[in-house]
Amino acid sequence: MNSATINHAAAAIRSAILAHEADIECLDREIGDGDHYINIKRGCEAIASIEAELAPLSATDALNKIGMKLLSTIGGASGPLFASFFMGMSKSLKASATMNTLVLAQAFEAGVQAIMQRGKAQAGEKTMLDVLIPVASTFKQLADQGEPTSVITTRLKIVTGEGLESTRNMLATKGRASGLGERAIGHLDAGAKSCQVMIEAVCDLVSS
Ligand code: ADP
Ligand code: MG
Ligand code: MG
Repeated sequence: MNSATINHAAAAIRSAILAHEADIECLDREIGDGDHYINIKRGCEAIASIEAELAPLSATDALNKIGMKLLSTIGGASGPLFASFFMGMSKSLKASATMNTLVLAQAFEAGVQAIMQRGKAQAGEKTMLDVLIPVASTFKQLADQGEPTSVITTRLKIVTGEGLESTRNMLATKGRASGLGERAIGHLDAGAKSCQVMIEAVCDLVSS
């Protein structure tokens, strides 16, 4: 991974998010305040606007810059959480002398842990973490076993979909939906949906 692959992934994520406007927006309207799509779109646009600045940077520096940009552009709960992900990932990569699939999986996991710390949340609280935590552990396990990219992406897309679906019957204990009690049951979490869309887009990109 280098800044060119990061820019490609950011572009793929942006078009996937734009293509899923209706589903993401309606989920946050059902059990949130309806702005999640706008927040994510603003983040995607902010990253697209610094594409040329990211190009000469190392992967570590590019990810850190993305995190800082997101912190200053996306509002709401999700802005600082996504920012923490990219900064956590950057910090983990910086500590490694090499770059390979396992290093990437470890960096992804470090990003997810940074979200958990920032949001003081765990799995099972009806948030984006219900997609990100299982994806991080499956990614690391498959990379550890030396599985090829095609096997990893196919499996991650399945785990991502299962993680999203798992949020449907959860009570929300973090974020805006936590005030709704039983009323949140039956609805998918918007942040879990946007993460599923983003992860699927990156899996499709790297396996194409
Ligand atoms: P806001 O709730 O401030 O309007 P967004 O709508 O952009 O922010 O993001 C809401 C999403 O953020 C939720 O659907 C959930 O996935 C995620 N989220 C909220 N709080 C937390 C938290 N403490 N930890 C992890 N994810 C969270
Ligand atoms: Mg919202
Ligand atoms: Mg909001």
